[in-house]
Amino acid sequence: MENTVKTDVLIIGAGPSGLSTAIHLADLFKANNIKKQIIVVDKGQSVGSHILSGAVIKPKVFAELLPEVKNEEIPFDSKVAKDAMYMLTCDKNAIKMPFHPPYMGNEGNYCASLGEVCRFLASKATERGVEIYTSFAMSELLYGDDGKVRGAKCIDTGLNHHGEKLENFVEGTSVEAHITILAEGTRGSLSKKLIEKHNLHEGRNPQIYSLGCKELFSVPEGTIGAGDVYHTMGFPAMKDGVFGGGFIYGLKNNRVAIGLVLGLDFADPTYDVFRAFQIWKTHPFVEKFIKNGKLLEYGAKTLPEGGFYSLTKYYTDGAMIVGDSAGFLAMPALKGVHLAMYSGMAVAKAAVEAFKKNDFSAKILSKYEEYVEKSPIYSELYKCRNFRQGFEHGTFAGMFNFGTQLLTGGAGFRGRLATHSDAEHTKPLAYFSKATFKEKYASFDIDKPYCFSKVDDVFYSATQHDEEQIVHLHLQDKEKYALENIEKYDAPCQYYCPAEVYELHTDKNTGHKELRIHSENCVHCKTCDIKEPFGAITWNVPNGGNGPDYKYM
Ligand code: SF4
Repeated sequence: MENTVKTDVLIIGAGPSGLSTAIHLADLFKANNIKKQIIVVDKGQSVGSHILSGAVIKPKVFAELLPEVKNEEIPFDSKVAKDAMYMLTCDKNAIKMPFHPPYMGNEGNYCASLGEVCRFLASKATERGVEIYTSFAMSELLYGDDGKVRGAKCIDTGLNHHGEKLENFVEGTSVEAHITILAEGTRGSLSKKLIEKHNLHEGRNPQIYSLGCKELFSVPEGTIGAGDVYHTMGFPAMKDGVFGGGFIYGLKNNRVAIGLVLGLDFADPTYDVFRAFQIWKTHPFVEKFIKNGKLLEYGAKTLPEGGFYSLTKYYTDGAMIVGDSAGFLAMPALKGVHLAMYSGMAVAKAAVEAFKKNDFSAKILSKYEEYVEKSPIYSELYKCRNFRQGFEHGTFAGMFNFGTQLLTGGAGFRGRLATHSDAEHTKPLAYFSKATFKEKYASFDIDKPYCFSKVDDVFYSATQHDEEQIVHLHLQDKEKYALENIEKYDAPCQYYCPAEVYELHTDKNTGHKELRIHSENCVHCKTCDIKEPFGAITWNVPNGGNGPDYKYM
């Protein structure tokens, strides 16, 4: 039975970009006396349950989006009180940097749980008449006969692992809309399809990503002040040539959020960001904040780091892309929330013009680009347009490149720097003459009260998936995978996945190796869709309401 809903605007994703789109669009419709329906859908079981960020947030955008709301009314956790950057050395020292690297100062910003902030934004959206539906997993885009996007379809449920219909089979609802806005977060699965189908990435640098692992601890009183912000560089990633660093944010009620965010452009197929995170916690500078603490939550997510030259073209006939899905993140500042919200406001302005003209073609929706260029997104990304690519050949080359960029307004001495995709960076085991990450850290002992295995940490993400469904992690070609990814690369997914979804099983009798997929552990970080050599794994959306259930991440 056909199950179709018609609406005016469909927004896929109730994160900061999707909800800002909904709020601003509702305000613009009202101001222009236009009566249209806005529907927001999200794959999480509630708003915020799939939302994870550091987070230290710049508040200015809230005053622009919600001028009637004072900062004190927004559920930020605490205003930044202390803000310091430390270089951690391998011999257990911590050297305080005399100044912040450019763009990294946090004066006037707020520590926050982005999930809490999204729940607040959702309440503001519903006050404006926006309809929000959770546990609604959109699995495919709908196209009209004219080739224009005309909505999206929810995943079919009641299928077994082989895709056979069970008694409880329900065909997914189709939601048809004049405009579909993709706000799926990093590496959105529909955004990826849209970008590929319409060649929206032509002429751009490949998007590159980092993976962040985060834990939230309850700690004894006096361990850290609410609003104390520390960032770290160096140990343990720098000596392995991996880009990135750590964060330690003091929160109200004696809590501390910690995390390690590392670029996925490493070559070593055995590099394991989660394990590096556990090793980072053993540095005395980090350990002192958590050693007497109790773990409350765990999660992981990827971030688009490529910046200006990796932005995809973010509109086509009938559809636009916002937030992390488009790549709006300022890497040197490690901030994307405010840019995601600005992109939501920009897309709303373009959408309202399309409704005024009753024309939803790419020509009209291209107005979105003009609004982005007039917004802080453009200025923040353009001035550091070569930042991340400059680190492609190591930290010291990156620092030199960054210095030249600061002197030349972001251009550097070589103009636009190119980059390669994270998957292309991965090298086969035969490439390495020295010990790989797996060998170097084989003796690292996690038997400390504040260190955890992946499986233990996944428990703290409250992740669950329905047993009966098609496995949402798809291996493109099993034979090729065995010959290439297993034989030559040692199945990198078994290392980089921060949730122990992938297990390389070796048959004791035959020696035959086979990849086993424990999809029920997946925290939806998308690393496997990004990092696996030859694009061998595709992340598809599972049933609605499946995945992590983050509370204060
Ligand atoms: Fe992340 Fe993929 Fe592992 Fe899921 S299976 S947690 S998306 S790497």
